[in-house]
Amino acid sequence: MAQVLRRDSQEILIEDKSFQAAKCDKCGAKIYPRSLLKPHLNRHQSQRRWFLTELKKLRRTMSHMRGIA
Ligand SMILES: [Zn+2]
Repeated sequence: MAQVLRRDSQEILIEDKSFQAAKCDKCGAKIYPRSLLKPHLNRHQSQRRWFLTELKKLRRTMSHMRGIA
C-alpha cells in the first residue's frame, strides 16, 4: 500500500517537473492535457482573424479620414 502511494507521488512529481503540458507560445499558457492545445490554438487563430478584420476596417477608416484631410 505504502509502495503504491510512493509510486503515485513520484508520478505526480514527474508531472510537476515536465508538467506534461504543452505550452502555448502565443500566450504562454500551460495547456493540460496536451490534447487541448489544438483547440486552444484554434481559438487564438479565430481571435487573430477577428483582429485582422477589425484592423482592416480601422485602416479603411483611417485612409478615408486622410482623404478628407
Ligand atoms: Zn494561448
